[in-house]
Amino acid sequence: MNAWIDHEAAIRLYLLMGGFGVVAVWEALAPRRRPIPAAGWRWTVNIGLTVLLSIVVGLAFPVLSVGAALFAERHGFGVLPMAALPAAVEFVIAFVLLDLARYAEHALLHRVPWLWRLHRVHHSDPQYDCTTALRFHPVEPLVTVALHLAVIIALGASPLAVLAFESVAIVMGLFTHGNVRVPQALDRALRVVIVTPDLHRVHHSAFAAEAGRNFGAIFAWWDRLFGTHQAQPAHGHERMAVGLADVAPHEAASLAWILAAPFMPSRTVTAASPD
Ligand SMILES: [Zn+2]
Ligand SMILES: [Zn+2]
Repeated sequence: MNAWIDHEAAIRLYLLMGGFGVVAVWEALAPRRRPIPAAGWRWTVNIGLTVLLSIVVGLAFPVLSVGAALFAERHGFGVLPMAALPAAVEFVIAFVLLDLARYAEHALLHRVPWLWRLHRVHHSDPQYDCTTALRFHPVEPLVTVALHLAVIIALGASPLAVLAFESVAIVMGLFTHGNVRVPQALDRALRVVIVTPDLHRVHHSAFAAEAGRNFGAIFAWWDRLFGTHQAQPAHGHERMAVGLADVAPHEAASLAWILAAPFMPSRTVTAASPD
């Protein structure tokens, strides 16, 4: 198992690049909305933010998720091992609970004003495609990764469950942000269990009320369970506006503005989106 920890960063990178390539090609062949010009400055900004974020995470955290799971295993931390369940059952429970934690964390990012200042960078993208999945303020993971590591240790999730969850989460992040056309029947079947691009696009609506819906990352059932589910955007997928109404296009396109925005006086910051 220890071999995995040495390769954790490489596995993430390969999944990110492979998933990105597949979704980018899918977007070009079968776009859900008007095709968005590929590459260009917006892509540079969004990809650049992920590079910056990776540097911050690398400097701030001595271990990533699998490392935290190995740490918990070595020291006997966490509630799951106490139940002494069969390994397969424990794996499934850990996977599902990690996604529930991701849901709760995402709802917090919207509801706690200083967290929303960071997370709104993700929502400030005036377009919606696979690079939106890469657009996060580099300070946001100082909160989200720390929370995620704490949850892994508190659960005592197995390294294998964590690796599986992280891998699926990376691919799902790219898929759900894709400007990709999913056949309607397939979308209907998928969204019974998992988040689809149409579901997560509602969350990127310029209407604050719609942005306060569909927090789910992998499983779609948390939003239904906790009353934050919205099946479709009010204006339809082709016509809906994505992004933030109070962010000008030149601001959303400026790396300097994006990096400084969370620390600017509050007059430039919208309230956390209501539910
Ligand atoms: Zn959000
Ligand atoms: Zn998103």
